Amino acid sequence: MKFLDRFRRATPATNPAPCPAPSPEVLLAPLDGTLQALDTVPDPVFAGRMLGDGLAIDPATNVLCAPFAGTVVALPKTRHAITLRAANGAELLMHIGIETVGLGGDGFVAHVKEGQSVAAGDRLISFDAARIAPQVPSLVIPLIVTNGDDFVLRSRAADGSVKRGARCCEIVPAAIAGSSSMPEAPPEAEGEVFHCTSEIRDPFGIHARPAGVIATRAKAAASRVTLSLGGRRADARSSVAIMLMGAQAGDVVHVEAIGPTAQKDAQDIAELIAAPGSGAAAREPRPASAPAPALAAKPLVAVALDAPGIRRVFSGVSAAPGLAVGVSRRLVHEQLDIPENGAGIEQEMAALTDAIARTRSAIESAIAHFSEPGPVEHGSHGNQQTEILTAHLSFLDDPYLRSTSDEMITAGRSAAFAWKNAVETQITALRQLGNEVLAERAADLLDIERRVLLVLCGRNETALELPDNAILFADDLLPSQFADLDLKRVAGICLAASGPTSHVAILSASYGIAAIVAAGPDTLRVPDGQDIIIDADKGQISVNPAVSDVAATRQVVETRRARVDANRQAAGEICRMPDGTRIEVVANLGSVSEVAGALANGAEGCGLLRSEFLYLHRTSAPGEDEQFAEYQAIATALAGRPLVIRTLDAGADKDVPYAHLPTEENPALGLRGVRLSLWQPDLLRTQVRAILRVKPYGQCKILLPMIATLADVRTVKAVIAAESEALGRDVPIETGIMVEVPSVALIAAQFAEEVDFFSVGTNDLTQYTLAMDRCNARLAQQLDPFHPAVLRLIGLAADGARNRGRWVGVCGNIASSPLAAPLLIGLGVTELSATANAIADIKALVRTLDMPRCRAVAEAALALDSADDVRHLVATHWPTIGSGS
Ligand code: PEP
Ligand code: MG
Repeated sequence: MKFLDRFRRATPATNPAPCPAPSPEVLLAPLDGTLQALDTVPDPVFAGRMLGDGLAIDPATNVLCAPFAGTVVALPKTRHAITLRAANGAELLMHIGIETVGLGGDGFVAHVKEGQSVAAGDRLISFDAARIAPQVPSLVIPLIVTNGDDFVLRSRAADGSVKRGARCCEIVPAAIAGSSSMPEAPPEAEGEVFHCTSEIRDPFGIHARPAGVIATRAKAAASRVTLSLGGRRADARSSVAIMLMGAQAGDVVHVEAIGPTAQKDAQDIAELIAAPGSGAAAREPRPASAPAPALAAKPLVAVALDAPGIRRVFSGVSAAPGLAVGVSRRLVHEQLDIPENGAGIEQEMAALTDAIARTRSAIESAIAHFSEPGPVEHGSHGNQQTEILTAHLSFLDDPYLRSTSDEMITAGRSAAFAWKNAVETQITALRQLGNEVLAERAADLLDIERRVLLVLCGRNETALELPDNAILFADDLLPSQFADLDLKRVAGICLAASGPTSHVAILSASYGIAAIVAAGPDTLRVPDGQDIIIDADKGQISVNPAVSDVAATRQVVETRRARVDANRQAAGEICRMPDGTRIEVVANLGSVSEVAGALANGAEGCGLLRSEFLYLHRTSAPGEDEQFAEYQAIATALAGRPLVIRTLDAGADKDVPYAHLPTEENPALGLRGVRLSLWQPDLLRTQVRAILRVKPYGQCKILLPMIATLADVRTVKAVIAAESEALGRDVPIETGIMVEVPSVALIAAQFAEEVDFFSVGTNDLTQYTLAMDRCNARLAQQLDPFHPAVLRLIGLAADGARNRGRWVGVCGNIASSPLAAPLLIGLGVTELSATANAIADIKALVRTLDMPRCRAVAEAALALDSADDVRHLVATHWPTIGSGS
């Protein structure tokens, strides 16, 4: 984030620009052409007035001139657009043609510079219409008042041919026109003006959830905050406007705040822009074989159904594992009958206000529901659901959605018609931005559209009657629809569209519901009441299978269920192999809210507390007392069980803006993990002190991430020793290191001299061994920790540790896979730190394993060629792992 400028707003005489003088400005035609309504522009962003109100001219000449005297406030390098500020403060964007930004300036010549004053009629930009026209959808020039909340257009000339310099309309300050198209703007008269810039770090740019977070902060601000990027400006209170800036990773957004707390508001918003975003789900790599998700749910009513009893098999992409037998139930998106004409402006306005309020309270209840402790790993997925719903709340409040709807209602339309059109215009605009992630988020807007329309039409979809063991068939399932389901009755979900990283995939997995996505439109033809087998592990759906298959699958499902129940029942017992070898099965945790779920699944402690949860999404580092309170709460909740706290593993994809990390070419190879802590030693000291204070002494251990050299280990140990002494703590704290970098495994014996234990982070160890970026979706299927090279490094680490009497755990994702347990144990690992819902099954499996066999199979695995070969080998030796028998 870079601060550009700060100054106190002085009197209008010394700083007149941002403070509109109360006089209308006449807008003269900037060139010859045909004057037309903005609605005719073939681009929903302009036609939908998402950047503001205005008009359009289809040009007959090719020099754009100043429509009034003013100052050039924005002229992008591509010279396809220009923004002028008039003496009364109105800002007019003139955009030559549609999608002309893509021409990169080819065909445009600017005659002015940013900051230059111009007189009405001065030449601004010449353009080569013959060259440009064939390359773009249209040459029409929208003229948009971008700060339209302060101004209204009046006295518009009639559509039709105009000559340069002809009067087109007046731009009148809302204050004297007596209306404003935006709801309640924050006060802005006296106060600061503060500008800063912020670079977008989120690899997906500003998509729905970050936009929602930014808009929520801006709405709470006492100042008015505006974002700009190139020629696009967005009122920061509007998440839709923010998304429509189309901001991508690496773009630098200009933040301007005007008002009493301008500096704080601008800085907070700049930090939110620079934050990596809350798109964890979106960031999960999509398997290479998975098709891109479809965009939105379509009604099912128009689909012709198959005759009942027809036997069919469909295949799709596994979104949540599991096997289930059940009965088909279609989730039909009811076609709503929406009248175009309203029953009176007041009545329709009130109806819309009421529908939005009711939708708001329904979403707030859902947020409360997902914030409660729930089933397996509900903590983290509940958080995700809460974030999604919070973004939906911000859409409901979106000033553009509301003002566009209000305009249509004022023009005589019904509230439902107006709302549907307002939302759908923006959905279309999102899809046209050419950004897959933003396009996926159109489903969130669709969700909001549907919810409000249902209320307006007096419908209630929440009471979907489900048979027991329902297998739901739908085109897609919106987050709110998932929240409304009676999940006790849902055995499986089959979606024609969607994708494996969609919200429904994440939620299904967290509730243990088998789900298949991208199964194709023919699945929508399956009538209700058919027998279904859904094998989500194989991505297969069988409709009306043979009776014998149904019976056999039921048997497998029952066996699995009984086994899972039995495993859970026995999960509380400590874990030993039949020969008495103790294998600790502990949990990976992110916060205190996850402890109860982990213990219920049999966790024997915490093998990895990712302390990042305390550091991310905030503007300054947590202090010592705050950290101590959190760590102590987790230690207490674990009731004496071991707690391994990993020091801050930030950097690379986990950004902490207040650390002011330098821009790096290869952040995954840069200042991340312990290197960041050593670069900012105060961060490390504070954290170490907080951990050292946790009681009882001995319960907590320190784990250092991203260790590559002995020098780093020794430096951190010196800090720990110094802080222990300063605190008067005379009990040493066990200190271990993550094995994530091959160098540690390769000279494990030397590292084992320095530390008390190793914990293998296979997620990073695989990334650094195979030189495959763990965030690169294209490499996701090859980035397999079962690769013999990775296993060999784990074996080397274990050998080095054993020779010095140190223990070795594994806390990467491989530890949550039952298939890996015999291998890891065979290689010498004695602690498995897994996600909570894997623990009971892993403990049950470990209790059956035979050590000599584990060693022999692990040894054989090291000699194999590929990860697939290793998986096959283990499956051959332990065929029941992961099966139903
Ligand atoms: C790992 O790298 O395996 C690990 C556990 O750390 P993280 O996934 O948090 O980087
Ligand atoms: Mg790691």
